[in-house]
Amino acid sequence: MPHPTPRRFNKLLIANRGEIALRIIRACRQLGIKTVAVYSSADKQSGHLTLADETVCIGPAPAKESYLNIAAILAAADLTQVDAIHPGYGFLSENADFAEQVIQSGFHFIGPKADTIRLMGDKVSAIAAMKAAGVPTVPGSDGLLDHDEARTKQIAAEIGYPLIIKATAGGGGKGMRIVEDEAQLLATITLTRREAEAAFGNSGVYLEKYLTRPRHIEVQVVCDQQGNCLSLGERDCSLQRAQQKVIEAAPAPGLTPEQRQQIGQSCIKACQAIGYLGVGTLEFLYQDGEFYFMEMNTRIQVEHTITEMVTGVDLLALQLTIAQGEPLELSEAQVTPKGHAIECRINAEHPRTFTPSPGQITQLQVPGGLGVRWESHLTHGYDIPPYYDAMIAKLITWGDDRTQAIARMRTALDELIISGIDTNVPLLKALLADPKVQQGETSIHYLEDTFLPGK
Ligand code: ADP
Repeated sequence: MPHPTPRRFNKLLIANRGEIALRIIRACRQLGIKTVAVYSSADKQSGHLTLADETVCIGPAPAKESYLNIAAILAAADLTQVDAIHPGYGFLSENADFAEQVIQSGFHFIGPKADTIRLMGDKVSAIAAMKAAGVPTVPGSDGLLDHDEARTKQIAAEIGYPLIIKATAGGGGKGMRIVEDEAQLLATITLTRREAEAAFGNSGVYLEKYLTRPRHIEVQVVCDQQGNCLSLGERDCSLQRAQQKVIEAAPAPGLTPEQRQQIGQSCIKACQAIGYLGVGTLEFLYQDGEFYFMEMNTRIQVEHTITEMVTGVDLLALQLTIAQGEPLELSEAQVTPKGHAIECRINAEHPRTFTPSPGQITQLQVPGGLGVRWESHLTHGYDIPPYYDAMIAKLITWGDDRTQAIARMRTALDELIISGIDTNVPLLKALLADPKVQQGETSIHYLEDTFLPGK
């Protein structure tokens, strides 16, 4: 592959909102890149807009008409003459058509190639590509099911029950069903197909072994345009509610150095095999000492911060310099994790009913101190709009070890005051007071089973 000549971006458009928009602005300012923040009319008072060099309103409140409006975003990019577009996470960040149109319009897309996004966006093709590259996957049907009922039953029996039926086009926890035994198999497949067709316009489904008490462990990778690829270690994101991560930690408690090395190397090999570019995350289920590939996120993730805290690498800055064509110059030794980091996602929602709680912040007191990091666009008096994700801030702490990181987090949560709305802070405090959570190594069901029984 010809090596690109590094070039500097003069100006970059951020196709996102909230805390990640602010995070991107900070990274750009440090690299001397000017920024264009686009916003919907519901976000016109968002604090981060004052830190951007230029701002463009791209439409009304509903995301479909603003943050998901490709034509409006490209028009804003044209108008402001940017070099590149950063999609952040969520919204258009894993939309291959958007990436393609960004490139076709003459801008750099901060992310992998559109074809890579497409490959990883379809579960069946993603699993096939990873399996071919030697990444451990969940035992399954190895492809879509056809309509041969006898064969389907045979495949299911070979994998063993319980099974999970998944729609290849599924996402966000939708299009999945667990089957306990053969009696329910065919009817449940029909139901999942029908739902998938209605929700995603694609009725393709496949089977996987259902793991009963897995942990969620994911590996952060970064690859440059010269073909260098590096793993920045793993994160444990097992504390989840409704398949949404609540608290994340790096490194994952309880892994041996050999396991870490092995899964990291396996991810690097796979990324090189698929020609991956930029930052990305391979998500795994982990049970009884084994990793099972689930999916790859081809973008920066919410919880990239904890990897930054333990490796000392600014992942946003790295993402930008790699997109500029600069080679990855970090060695494995330089990114060996040091200490332990925890992230709490602060959501504007009721801590027990989880009803969204938009509205005006009447008081805001942000925690501080050694090893405490706050990532948020919130300001005193800010009115949280009701149209978007409930996450309003991330609180991150670092410590020499997990015990210290948790102690700092609990102190920080006690200092934090957000008045005027409900937040999930009481749940976060309860979680961090729990001995099993403190120890780590809980499964993805622990939060709901222990803290929200009957929900
Ligand atoms: P989505 O793309 O909809 O988020 P995933 O394939 O990532 O779907 O799965 C969502 C969640 O479902 C996972 O985070 C995990 O909790 C659970 N899950 C998925 N596959 C399995 C499996 N084979 N066994 C047990 N749980 C699973």
